[in-house]
Amino acid sequence: MATPPQASPSPNPDKSPITAAPTISPGTSRFTSPNLQPDQIASPSIKNPIMLSPENGVKTGSPIPHLSTPPGPPVFTSPVRPAAVPFRTSPATPQPVAFSSGSSLPTSSPPHFSNGSVELQQQVPSALEESLPAGDIPCVLFSAHKVLKHKKLANVPSLGFGVLVSPGRETSIGPQVIQRDPHRCHNCGAYSNLYSNILIGSGQWQCVICRNLNGSEGEYVASSKEELRNFPELSSPLVDFIQTGNKRPSYVPVTDSRTSAPVVLVIDECLDEQHLQHLQSSLHAFVDSVPLTTRIGIILYGRTVSVYDFSEDSIASADVIPGGTSPTQETLKGFIYGTGIYLSPMHASKEIAHLIFSSLRPYKLNVPEASRDRCLGTAVEVAMAIIQGPSVDMSRGVVKRPGGNSRIIVCAGGPNTYGPGSVPHSYTHPNYPHREKTALKWMEHLGREAHQHNIVVDVLCAGTCPVRVPVLQPLANSSGGVLVLHDDFGEAFGVNLQRASARAAGSHGLLEIRCSDDILVTQVVGPGEGAHIDTHETFKNDISLCIQMLSVEETQCFSISLENKHDIKSDYVFFQFAIQYSNVYQADIARVITIRLPTVDSVSAYLQSVQDEVAAVIIAKRTLLRAKSYSDAIDMQTTIDERVKDIALKFGSQVPKSKLYLFPKEISLLPELLFHLRRGPLLGSIVGHEDERSVLRNLFLNASFDLSLRMTAPRCLMHREGGTFEELPAYDLAMQSDTAVVLDHGTDVFIWLGAELAADEGRSASALAACRTLAEELTELRFPAPRILAFKEGSSQARYFVSRLIPAHKDPPYEQEARFPQLRTLTTEQRTKLKSSFIHFDDPSFCEWIRGLKATKASAITIFFDMAGGEHKKSGGGGKKKEVKKETGLGLSFTKDENFGEWYSEVVVSSEMIEYYDISGCYILRPWAMSIWEIMQTFFDAEIKKMKVKNCYFPLFVSPGVLLKEKDHIEGFAPEVAWVTKSGHSDLEVPIAIRPTSETVMYPYYSKWIRGHRDLPLKLNQWCNVVRWEFSNPTPFIRSREFLWQEGHTAFATKEEADTEVLQILELYRRIYEEFLAIPVTKGRKSELEKFAGGLYTTSIEAFIPNTGRGIQGATSHCLGQNFAKMFEINYENEKGEKAMVWQNSWGYSTRTIGVMVMVHGDDKGLVLPPKVAALQVIVIPIPYKDADTQGIFDACTATVATLSEAGIRAEADLRENYSPGWKYSNWEMKGVPLRIEIGPQDLENNQVRVARRDNGEKTDISRVFLVEQVKGMLDKIQQNLFDAAKQKRDACIEVVKTWDEFVKALGQKKLILAPWCDEKDVEKDVKARTKGEMGAAKSLCTPFEQPELAEGTKCFASGKPAKKWTYWGRSY
Ligand SMILES: [Zn+2]
Repeated sequence: MATPPQASPSPNPDKSPITAAPTISPGTSRFTSPNLQPDQIASPSIKNPIMLSPENGVKTGSPIPHLSTPPGPPVFTSPVRPAAVPFRTSPATPQPVAFSSGSSLPTSSPPHFSNGSVELQQQVPSALEESLPAGDIPCVLFSAHKVLKHKKLANVPSLGFGVLVSPGRETSIGPQVIQRDPHRCHNCGAYSNLYSNILIGSGQWQCVICRNLNGSEGEYVASSKEELRNFPELSSPLVDFIQTGNKRPSYVPVTDSRTSAPVVLVIDECLDEQHLQHLQSSLHAFVDSVPLTTRIGIILYGRTVSVYDFSEDSIASADVIPGGTSPTQETLKGFIYGTGIYLSPMHASKEIAHLIFSSLRPYKLNVPEASRDRCLGTAVEVAMAIIQGPSVDMSRGVVKRPGGNSRIIVCAGGPNTYGPGSVPHSYTHPNYPHREKTALKWMEHLGREAHQHNIVVDVLCAGTCPVRVPVLQPLANSSGGVLVLHDDFGEAFGVNLQRASARAAGSHGLLEIRCSDDILVTQVVGPGEGAHIDTHETFKNDISLCIQMLSVEETQCFSISLENKHDIKSDYVFFQFAIQYSNVYQADIARVITIRLPTVDSVSAYLQSVQDEVAAVIIAKRTLLRAKSYSDAIDMQTTIDERVKDIALKFGSQVPKSKLYLFPKEISLLPELLFHLRRGPLLGSIVGHEDERSVLRNLFLNASFDLSLRMTAPRCLMHREGGTFEELPAYDLAMQSDTAVVLDHGTDVFIWLGAELAADEGRSASALAACRTLAEELTELRFPAPRILAFKEGSSQARYFVSRLIPAHKDPPYEQEARFPQLRTLTTEQRTKLKSSFIHFDDPSFCEWIRGLKATKASAITIFFDMAGGEHKKSGGGGKKKEVKKETGLGLSFTKDENFGEWYSEVVVSSEMIEYYDISGCYILRPWAMSIWEIMQTFFDAEIKKMKVKNCYFPLFVSPGVLLKEKDHIEGFAPEVAWVTKSGHSDLEVPIAIRPTSETVMYPYYSKWIRGHRDLPLKLNQWCNVVRWEFSNPTPFIRSREFLWQEGHTAFATKEEADTEVLQILELYRRIYEEFLAIPVTKGRKSELEKFAGGLYTTSIEAFIPNTGRGIQGATSHCLGQNFAKMFEINYENEKGEKAMVWQNSWGYSTRTIGVMVMVHGDDKGLVLPPKVAALQVIVIPIPYKDADTQGIFDACTATVATLSEAGIRAEADLRENYSPGWKYSNWEMKGVPLRIEIGPQDLENNQVRVARRDNGEKTDISRVFLVEQVKGMLDKIQQNLFDAAKQKRDACIEVVKTWDEFVKALGQKKLILAPWCDEKDVEKDVKARTKGEMGAAKSLCTPFEQPELAEGTKCFASGKPAKKWTYWGRSY
């Protein structure tokens, strides 16, 4: 369901007029239900009244006057790929829709319900259910195909539930046409339909809305349910009834079905020559395009109004009246009853029309465009009079000319500045605001009057002078017309002129909305207003919402928001949309659409049924409705943010251990659509001029689904050799110099030619032609027709194009690549060039935006997008589609700088070092982590063996007696000791501890083993695990309940030997950190407070994490003195035969080292491994390219790995075929592999490879001849560079302080503090107490062996007593 929108291939150009065709055809073949045509997509239409349902108590009735412009309907057809169907097309061909109801009823017992209130079970043949995904009718698009039962969840405004209804939408295969009156529920007015239960014995049917039982005047009496299939309304969700009852007094029988309603052109005569020329060609083309039966009228306006007379077919003559005031009744009578012919069918007046247009002359006076007198209002009044003919009061007995579907098209080049409804020439006119207000009211009134006579006024503006949109908009809106702005009177204007005249689907439209009692209509946005009660038939308990449509156009739709009134218990809810209107052939039609949606409890099932794009459009319309001004629009951007957050919160799932939520993947397209809306022309800053914004807004509120969707989110199509196109996500780095791209943004279509391509004349011409054809096809049925703009890369107009795209240049490359795989094929130079060719915006990129919302996880969305992205199929081409696994996106959702903790947790998991375990604080070490541990182990183990240390292994369990023997020692560990208290079901007599460290485990045996001086020194080490049941903030590697380490325990005869070894071991630890892990450390001694419990003194190496400003103890080497020897009686007989106690050491380092490494080197792309500890130092990735020698590339990769491995470099090739190179880049970057080698066709040719460094991203091409040397050299450089960079960062954090104030300040700045100290225990306790806070107290980290000079008289920073030493202080892990 995350499929992108789909275009439908065939925009049904011919609307099938409803010819008087009797069709109650029984044959099932006739029953092809329209909704099952995959190739036709309804284009909904537009307009924008807001109505709140009466139930709501909020309001109903008077429509809010809307400035709205109707737009045009798209329906695009794209050769590119099957249109994205926002709704699922049902798989099969139209199934004969089994009719519903009756079938399930016990035919034998009809009397069972004679009372309307009886509950009937709604049962519908299951075949229908399978074949007809709910809501799959082109003119009715639901935002979800299921309804959530729970009121609370269903009514979440951020996502909401709604439907787009396009009353005027034609379906290429006509609906079932029924030439008789429909059966309507006597109680509520709903129509009988395919879901109605029918008693075939009595012909009674039950209403799906109110459940009333109705008679059918015997019509539905049938002998079998099969027979009922002959009633189209009982077998199809969409039927058209042609009214035959002639109930309306005004109904005029149609004699000539081809009679077309008149079109009057109202033309600005104040144009400069250049504009006029354009307009003239547009008008000539228009005349040639109009059907010959169409009657047209031509009116010119300036200071006067000239009405052309067609009675003489060789001269262009006109009757002229003054324009300064509304025409009098007398004047109008002159036109109506006079001898002139002001409306004439095209077949009779085509020549004269051409003649008239040719005779138009440019404006002669030397007056600026905006200051010319134009009596647009008067001209429209005259046009209306001509169309109406004699009005009722002046025309008793005179045949009325029907006005339905008539159209006035105003071609305006400037504002209305003369006569009624005019505004002063200049904004600075003192009376301008008042005049504007008056003009606005007058125009709205004029528009309403036009609507009452079923005349639609379209205002097509063009040119360079502002037309004062606020004044003209009401004229168009309230008549049901559209106001469109054009750059000039050229191409797009000409197309719109033609489309405006042809777009009507009917008039006198009334839309009735009925739903099951469970559902409430809360808002309607679209081209209509609440219908007055006396305009339509009403019923006793009619709960329908009736909307008077301003016009019935194919290009408009209503967006209806719905809510659950309460928790729903039934399995289905019903919706019925009835549209009554006169079609263009003046037949009265009642179109009835009935939809049944299943209800569900499951949020996931609901989400799966959500149509992202329909939902986005409904959300967008609701939002735009509130964005009346630019500042509103800015507010609405925030609203969009809130919506996305809210959806994640209400429907998403929480990310473990964080406040973030995963955006529900079922609706993963939604955020991007809303992001486009947020920054696009409708709500963003792309459109600067208020007029243009207002026009777009009005257009959008009424626009069909297809146009609305494109106006919300552009669609980007890249031209491919051979004339096919590939759909791309709209990220700006998507464009390459060698391609042409079409960007469809609804009201604008941009064609972008890459510079390289443009340089090649032949190729660029054909690419341009293909793009133009595509653009035209995409927008064939759209109204207004979009501007189609083509330009070259680098031109000033390119800015326009780029501004419509989502800026992605600020995203890290891997993120860009994950979303736009084509980038991976670019060389560094190409990419740099590409990047430099884009204009940089301050707007956030999509990923930044999501991250910025702080409630949803960017990577989750990226992943979903990437999955959707995986579906960008190469269109056309006919190439074999390879079945590949979908790639999931990569990338971290947190940055190291912004959210270090989350970043760390994510890196260790994403890089596949750690897996979380179901016991808190315990982690699985995956091979990627274990291999690092093993490398360090190998080094250290060999080194201590050189020192004659031997490995051994002591048990995990400790008896309490032994554990508790050394009091100080155990006090230090007691809270963290884990105990085994049970075996099986029985309690242990004495609980057993699990070692937190092994001093007490081992030393009883030391006592046993050490007898004489020859037994010394005893040097044992064990590689093992220990358990410390920590309760605070378990963190992988850094603070876990079980961890791996080595613990060395040595015993010596003398203190000197012990002291020496302490430092030798400490040096090895330094080497592990600095030489292997590339982390700078400080060697030093721990304070009394911080030393090992029970020991004599502790030395350690200390690292520092700049991001958190915390020190971290890297490893410790303790001298235990003789304390343990005393407790455990480790005595020996010395050379002199005296009894002596041993001097002991213990020392250890743990897997914490790995965590420190991640923290120090990792970056926003993931892990960064120093080459020395990387399990894999080099990853080799083939870059297969189309038409390239793939096998050759793969072979080269394998050979490269072999060469490197032979030389002792840890290398592998990633030859997986189901992942793209870009994905692999990201994958291995995440895992931190120091060097990446890429081999593509070009490399193969040049016998080289491309090498990319993980630490700094640098790329170099190196010859395969010197491969080993160069790679070795680079690995060394990386190792060194990582250390240098880390040292530089750490050093920058060191702050020397001398006073308490400086200390507190530095602590606040997350510094590594070096301070003079008196070395008193109580003072350190005091420091801890004084710095206690949320972040944890500060403490001494170590007294460095390398002491800076301590000047005489230096005071302790904390106590003011004489200082004895320099000590590092800070918060620590
Ligand atoms: Zn009813």
